[in-house]
Amino acid sequence: MGADVVLLIVAAAVLGAIIGSFLGAALERLPEGRSVLTGRSACDSCGKALTPVELVPVLSWLVQRGVCRSCGAAIGWWQLGAEVGAALIAALAMALSVFPLAAMVLGWQLLLLALLDARHMWLPRPLTLLLAASGALFMTLWAMQGREPMILVEALIGGAFGFATLWLLGQGYERLRGREGLGGGDPPLLGAIGLWLGPLGVIHTLLVASLGGLAVAGVLHLRGRRIEADTALPLGTLLAAAAWPIFVWQGWF
Ligand SMILES: [Zn+2]
Repeated sequence: MGADVVLLIVAAAVLGAIIGSFLGAALERLPEGRSVLTGRSACDSCGKALTPVELVPVLSWLVQRGVCRSCGAAIGWWQLGAEVGAALIAALAMALSVFPLAAMVLGWQLLLLALLDARHMWLPRPLTLLLAASGALFMTLWAMQGREPMILVEALIGGAFGFATLWLLGQGYERLRGREGLGGGDPPLLGAIGLWLGPLGVIHTLLVASLGGLAVAGVLHLRGRRIEADTALPLGTLLAAAAWPIFVWQGWF
């Protein structure tokens, strides 16, 4: 690996951490219906304006040990998770993906959705729409550049297939059990993922997410948590976490 490649990966990680700082703010503010456009410019608890040093992603969290220096309010692991996660996504996209920029845009959106679903069991419709729109845009550009309209056709089939699969599963479950088994945000999420990954990618995502769900349930069981049929695991988190590596992997073929 040449020095220029390493430099690119480091630069991507820094950009990712900055994006992650915004994702962390979004994670905190979206559920409260507050604007995220201002970024993390002030403490969410006491409103103290953050100094430039306190705005440095990851490092500021570590230096402040996850609390506001003025009021002592916890900044929370979520903020650090979003910053480190977005930096990792950017570095890995730069190092491994054939489409680094697309992989970053996809990964950052999936990260925010995954964290929102894990924390609040909530997949905001505008965010899944944005994921779908950016996927359609990327596929259109790619199809035009390679003069291969089939790329776009496959993306659209993937989108419809992803949505329909989970929607039908949800309907079937409701018929059988008489209650809702899937969150209403899951079919649109897999539909948006299908636009990015195509129909085969939807199947792979479902497989990997199911295995991931079983692994998480196994770990919870080993730690003494009782798993019942209706224990809710955030399906959106599992789908998002599965979809990103599959997108990067698909690019190699
Ligand atoms: Zn504060």
